Amino acid sequence: MFIMSEDSQRTQGRDAQSSNIMAGKAVAESVRTTLGPRGMDKMLVDSGGEVVITNDGATILNEMDIEHPAAQMIVEVAETQEEEVGDGTTTAGVIAGNLLGEAEDLIEQDVHATTIVEGYHEAAEIALDAIDEQISEAAVDDEVLKQVAESSMTGKGTGGLTAESLAETVVEAVRHVESDDGVARENVTVHTQIGASSNATELVPGIVIDEEPAHEGMPTEIEDASIAVLDVELGVRTGDVDAEYAIDSIDQLNAAIDAEESEVQGYAETVAESGADVVVTTEDVDDRVSTFLANEGILVFENVGSSDTADILSATGATRVGTLDDLEEADFGKADRIRSANFGDDDLAFVEGGAAAEAVTVFVRGGTEHIVDELERAIGDALDVAATALASGEVVPGAGATEIAIANKIREEAAGIEGRKQLAVTAFADALDVVPRTLAANTGQDPIDALVDLRAAHDSEGRAGLITDGEDVTIDDPLEFGVVDPADVKREAIESATEAATMIVRIDDVIAAE
Ligand code: ADP
Ligand code: MG
Repeated sequence: MFIMSEDSQRTQGRDAQSSNIMAGKAVAESVRTTLGPRGMDKMLVDSGGEVVITNDGATILNEMDIEHPAAQMIVEVAETQEEEVGDGTTTAGVIAGNLLGEAEDLIEQDVHATTIVEGYHEAAEIALDAIDEQISEAAVDDEVLKQVAESSMTGKGTGGLTAESLAETVVEAVRHVESDDGVARENVTVHTQIGASSNATELVPGIVIDEEPAHEGMPTEIEDASIAVLDVELGVRTGDVDAEYAIDSIDQLNAAIDAEESEVQGYAETVAESGADVVVTTEDVDDRVSTFLANEGILVFENVGSSDTADILSATGATRVGTLDDLEEADFGKADRIRSANFGDDDLAFVEGGAAAEAVTVFVRGGTEHIVDELERAIGDALDVAATALASGEVVPGAGATEIAIANKIREEAAGIEGRKQLAVTAFADALDVVPRTLAANTGQDPIDALVDLRAAHDSEGRAGLITDGEDVTIDDPLEFGVVDPADVKREAIESATEAATMIVRIDDVIAAE
């Protein structure tokens, strides 16, 4: 009796387990060399020849087009990590891969999958307690926020000096959107513009949009701006012209032209008299209207797309107006300054100090597309970690120190755990060692020696990480060297890696439809 289609494939028992584990491990392995300040970059080329150069775990795994379902679960670990806390994606993927590797050994020693799963969950609980114990006593002030931001950016192609000044911009940005209700990370946008060195990256106290003035003669900067946002075409509608004039004589033609002229003139005057000094419309503006408004000193943006329009509305507090008859001052938005600036082929509009929202934009500059793209990811991560650290007030030592401390606590507590589960709990600690080991390997050190030295330093000093400082690599207290990560990044990495690894280990039957 066949209960499945003849074409479907089925793998069972150890074969299923080991092929899943192998696939998961392979994926995690693929991001290993990018971990840490000396991590290398990957160049990913898609089928269309599009190139991405990155050090970011989530981006790499996303771009890799992975098909194996178990491998896909590791990709999801990185994705969840990115969504929840914005950083630590490589760490989470690497830990998940090693949890699988350790599980494989345990299965070979005849430890049952459910025992492994139980042991891993218990170890994860101990790990979360250990993270709490590692939280720095010092208050999370601007200096610490800067360290968090900088730690997340080192190794991201930003260069040491640049990372420091970028970190300042990042801290300024998250402070700007902080209120009694928390940190409104969503109010910080990153806008990239190719053309200058990354040192020219700055914080704009408002929004940046890709729009240019409708007329060359318009002012490029308006202070204390009153902004009218219209869904109105300022000109004779094409439809109106087509509505056939029966023109038999020159007089009639002239009359038609006059009528059109006065209609256009009417629009221009209505807008000019409304008192708005900046006009944003989603529709066309007739050249004659632009010329008139330019002479009146009014700045106009035409054919503004829906997302830019939405941003302007929410930043300035303007109300959209559907017909000129309804245009009145109460609908105007306000901004401290609106200016237009040219960057090579691109014109950008800066809407600063909008009255309605505390939006800020990190205006990222860089020499080439690849540079600004990677900077955008790095700054995105830095904004996420700074916002997370500011909101929770909890940071832990980086550079592998927290992982060493967690592994240590797990090994201590494993002694009190009965039976084979103890093996699984200890294996979890071994899997965490991979973080400092990988940091060591990626800085050209012997991973075993480094691990031994780190453990010794941890036992005698209490806190010890493998710190990269310029060209030097030393074992010391990461908090003193400003290498810090948000506690939430470590918690999420443990939780999502444990979840994915245990889910994969539990599977002993793979049924695949062809
Ligand atoms: P992830 O995707 O996991 O964030 P990263 O490549 O960003 O991967 O590396 C993060 C790790 O690098 C963290 O463990 C962090 O503490 C560590 N790190 C950051 N700066 C330094 C430094 N100067 N020295 C040593 N480790 C560092
Ligand atoms: Mg990172």
